Amino acid sequence: MALRFFNTLTRQVEEFVPRDAGKVAMYTCGPTVYNRAHIGNFRTFLFSDLVRRYLRYSGYQVTAAMNITDIDDKTIAGAHKDGVPMREFTERYTKCFLDDCAALRIAPPDIAPKATEHIREMVGIVTRLRDKGLAYESKGSWYFRVSAFPSYGELAHLDTEGMRQVERVAADEYQKEDPRDFALWKSWEESDGDVFWETEIGKGRPGWHLECSAMSLKYLGEAFDIHLGGVDLIFPHHQNEIAQTEGATGKKLARYWLHSEFLMIESDKMSKSLGNFFTLSDLVDKGWKPREIRYALMAGHYRQQLNFTVAGLEGARAALDRLDCCLRNLRLSEGAGGETEARAAIAKSEAEFRAALDDDFNYPEALAAVFSLVREINVLCGAGKIGKVEAALVLEAMRRLDSVLGFLDVDAESDEKDEDIEALIAARTAARTNKDWKEADRIRDELAARNVVIEDRAGGTAWRRKE
Ligand code: AMP
Ligand code: ZN
Repeated sequence: MALRFFNTLTRQVEEFVPRDAGKVAMYTCGPTVYNRAHIGNFRTFLFSDLVRRYLRYSGYQVTAAMNITDIDDKTIAGAHKDGVPMREFTERYTKCFLDDCAALRIAPPDIAPKATEHIREMVGIVTRLRDKGLAYESKGSWYFRVSAFPSYGELAHLDTEGMRQVERVAADEYQKEDPRDFALWKSWEESDGDVFWETEIGKGRPGWHLECSAMSLKYLGEAFDIHLGGVDLIFPHHQNEIAQTEGATGKKLARYWLHSEFLMIESDKMSKSLGNFFTLSDLVDKGWKPREIRYALMAGHYRQQLNFTVAGLEGARAALDRLDCCLRNLRLSEGAGGETEARAAIAKSEAEFRAALDDDFNYPEALAAVFSLVREINVLCGAGKIGKVEAALVLEAMRRLDSVLGFLDVDAESDEKDEDIEALIAARTAARTNKDWKEADRIRDELAARNVVIEDRAGGTAWRRKE
């Protein structure tokens, strides 16, 4: 089955056909670097990471671009408040963002352009729009003339509710011809301080929407494949990006639009403005591991809201324990073998995994396929049918799956959470070497009390947690 997914532009699940055979150019709206991103933001960035990883797994050569918004009202205000130059301020939060991405195993984008380094390209779009009658100047600022662009609204499928939102967005901007018009370029104001560019369209700074139009066009070209972001970006941000790019080039901006749903907390969207958010470091400080957080944030289908709860994190920890346990047993397995059965289990699960992700990135189904493989391997292990050859095959399959999942530690010998157990096993081995059977039995009982089953084998003591 070919990859199919829901395209916000057409509101239909469509088969994915790339612009250039075998290649995918994708763009994700990146963070505004004025403070630490919260884990709600990371739900969207993790979804982008999943899409990218799965496209690579499926054999595509992927070019992933994600901008860094390092100029807007919030970066100016933040730098001012901290009394540091804006570049220093935004670099601090860009680093935080990239560090958090690395901890969550989000692959760095192939291209990560900064808005402040693309002012020339942004001005170029405004002048093209001006020459076509799609942009006008008013009090030193530039606006997009929505009335001259009849297809405006096609992405957001604007209805009366949508138009009401337009009016709200526009309420404070009286210098526009039409309330629906939006700012492309903002003229310098005193509160901007030393943040401005002298350009052929005047002294000022770009609007947020313009940044993404300029950078996606520059790095991915016209009509690139996939544009991605959270659902809150559909309107006005993505709608306006479309108007700008398509108005300037006469070509489509992107052919497929993917939007992921919110991370919620107690039935509200997790957001900076509501103050109901956690950052990655908040959770790490509470003892959660980044890979557990990654697992929990990816647990649901991307088109459904996901509730963030401690129970969700605990579930992630338990699931990862099961996976770690299976991997550890594989590394120690010394069964007689049963290659045909192992190969069949791998082929079946991997086919289910692909079918699930090809079906609108149905990640929960894909996870179910991974756990069905774990179950079958545990059964084969228990029956002595996993020897070195089979273990190598399964571990290889797990590496392939993890190129998409990004949370397995396929090649880790042990992880720190299991250190206590490893230490107890080492103490028991030492007791046995010293023929201290009483101590060895005591440790065995203690391990049993911790729900750990041990098995003495020629290569050492294997252990697993009871299911
Ligand atoms: P921002 O830095 O505010 O522009 O947001 C960066 C990304 O995070 C955007 O794609 C937003 O749509 C997304 N986002 C913001 N809040 C949430 C949330 N609660 N759940 C999922 N994604 C979110
Ligand atoms: Zn954008």
